[in-house]
Amino acid sequence: MLKNTVTHEVEFCVVGGGLSGICAAIAAARLGVKTAVMQDRPMFGGNASSEIRMWVCGAHGENNRETGLIEEFELENMYINPMRNYSVWDSVLYEKAAAEENIEILLNCACQEAKTENGVIKSITGYQTTTQTRHTVAADYFCDCSGDSILADLTGAEYRKGREAAGEFGEDIAPETADARTMGMSCLLQIRDTGRKSVFIPPKRAYKYTKETLTRFPAQNLINENFWYIELGGTGDSIKDTEILRDELLKTAFGLWDYIKNSGSYDADAWELEWLGFLPGKRESLRYAGDYIMNQNDVRGGGKFDDIIAFGGWTMDDHHPEGFLTKEPATIFHPAPSPYGIAYRCIYSKNIQNLFFAGRNISVTHAALSSTRVMATCALLGQAAGAAAYAAVKNNASPREIYENKNLLKNLQDILLDNDCFLPGIKREVSALTNAARLEDRFENLRNGHDRPIGAGDNGVYVNIGEEIKFAFDAPRAVTGVRLVFDSDLNRATVRYTNPDNPGKIGLTHNMMANKPRDFDGIEFPETMVSDFKIDVVYENGVKKNAAAVKGNYQRLVKTAFEKGIGNITEVIITPEKTTGKSDGYKNKAHIFSIDIY
Ligand SMILES: Cc1cc2nc3c(=O)[nH]c(=O)nc-3n(C[C@H](O)[C@H](O)[C@H](O)COP(=O)(O)OP(=O)(O)OC[C@H]3O[C@@H](n4cnc5c(N)ncnc54)[C@H](O)[C@@H]3O)c2cc1C
Repeated sequence: MLKNTVTHEVEFCVVGGGLSGICAAIAAARLGVKTAVMQDRPMFGGNASSEIRMWVCGAHGENNRETGLIEEFELENMYINPMRNYSVWDSVLYEKAAAEENIEILLNCACQEAKTENGVIKSITGYQTTTQTRHTVAADYFCDCSGDSILADLTGAEYRKGREAAGEFGEDIAPETADARTMGMSCLLQIRDTGRKSVFIPPKRAYKYTKETLTRFPAQNLINENFWYIELGGTGDSIKDTEILRDELLKTAFGLWDYIKNSGSYDADAWELEWLGFLPGKRESLRYAGDYIMNQNDVRGGGKFDDIIAFGGWTMDDHHPEGFLTKEPATIFHPAPSPYGIAYRCIYSKNIQNLFFAGRNISVTHAALSSTRVMATCALLGQAAGAAAYAAVKNNASPREIYENKNLLKNLQDILLDNDCFLPGIKREVSALTNAARLEDRFENLRNGHDRPIGAGDNGVYVNIGEEIKFAFDAPRAVTGVRLVFDSDLNRATVRYTNPDNPGKIGLTHNMMANKPRDFDGIEFPETMVSDFKIDVVYENGVKKNAAAVKGNYQRLVKTAFEKGIGNITEVIITPEKTTGKSDGYKNKAHIFSIDIY
């Protein structure tokens, strides 16, 4: 046993730093919770990181893009990473966590042990390879965001594995009898169109494929191909078999590239192998049992839960367990409405009293998981778990007690809405000061409690640059800050380049690209954002003063706090001064969804 053990005492400990884990940790830390995040890799992001390179997907449909932390990360990435470099994307996530003074970051540290007493986790311990140190983290609440649910067997938390029988929850996309089959794991590859001829000699162990032996072919047009279907492991044990599968996946991926590059069936002379991931990305292992197990019918029914804390909207994208080896379709996209709600009871353990979970291991059936597993949804679940941990710490309550106490549950939803998470069907409560103000009729949408377009309703206002939005009070008030929600173009296409085979813009909604065209020169930031604005206040005596002047903003949610507050105010005036727009329609007009005065 190593002598070098360091003990940490925090209020909330997150295990696993994929998008769900990093969102859980940051959400809790920003609410003032002392938090530790233990991540076994050198960077955050999990399947979205440069080690695995899956792009972030989420809810389908106009204006259904996930906001909150995931939108903050994506906007940061769009702003500082126009070339969509994976290391820069890693650094976006790392910097976000490192900026939080309430987070202790434990990277390269794999959780291996847990101490549990009477159904309560006391501490977990991980081994940090870079320092040969064991880290023990004692906490009041834990959140397993490890994907593989490392705390399940370590704590005795109940879980499920495999596919439910159709009859158990009445799921018509489930198999007739239950089995232990899951979706598989993948080693992805990235290729690059270099414009010059290049040679590829496959490693000796790579499989040799022919037209007859290869069952899965990529599209002829290699642009945007991400090879997600190089997938194995759904018929065995997606945890214990991983190293054997990694070896198989490498042989398969190199073999497939050899076929594409060298068989003559593809116009691939100028294409080069840029990168091949040696770490398999996983889709499914164990799913914890929470107080509720969400199923296909909940998804289909729109997830109309009173305890909604997140939403999904990807189709039920149920991969064949045989993955690359099946001759059947590699996946079936069963329709799902978008958005649909996800219940709070799906993110805490049924039998371990202080355990939350978020990500692909939440309490859902296999069928529901086939939709909830996409990473923007996982990020929302993480943010919800982090906010719930804050509610638990603040009220000295168990996760279940938060569900049972309707006030606590409503507070949790209020926190999420205030932090720009969209909860379909729930209106954000506008601050009392905002409602008390006089406001021109044409600005009423700014305080209607909706921070995005919903259906036919835009829920925002358009104002000219330089035009004043005045909140006027009948009697002098003290104000402490202003919360604003700008337009980040929720329907934006982040991949804008010319496809030689299909001229015109390609519109994809992902944070990163599978590959870049030859002439790629970066992607521009959306034009809809208010970048510069000022906030003036008018005192009771009629004197007008500037309270804040923001320049170069690129975030959708902006909370401007006035230090110590400002008293005796009769007006708060917000003036947009510039947008990120370059074209006329965007340059001269600001689109704002909400303004709250506090
Ligand atoms: C090939 C592939 C293609 C996919 N396609 C898409 C797609 O196009 N878009 C999309 O949005 N989603 C896609 N998915 C699904 C999505 O990537 C996952 O469902 C999602 O990443 C799950 O998020 P998570 O945070 O739960 O887990 P992960 O992203 O897996 O993150 C968990 C993290 O915890 C760490 N960890 C594990 N065990 C421990 C431990 N013991 N101690 C400390 N840390 C630990 C892991 O290393 C990892 O970094 C795909 C998945 C795969 C594999």
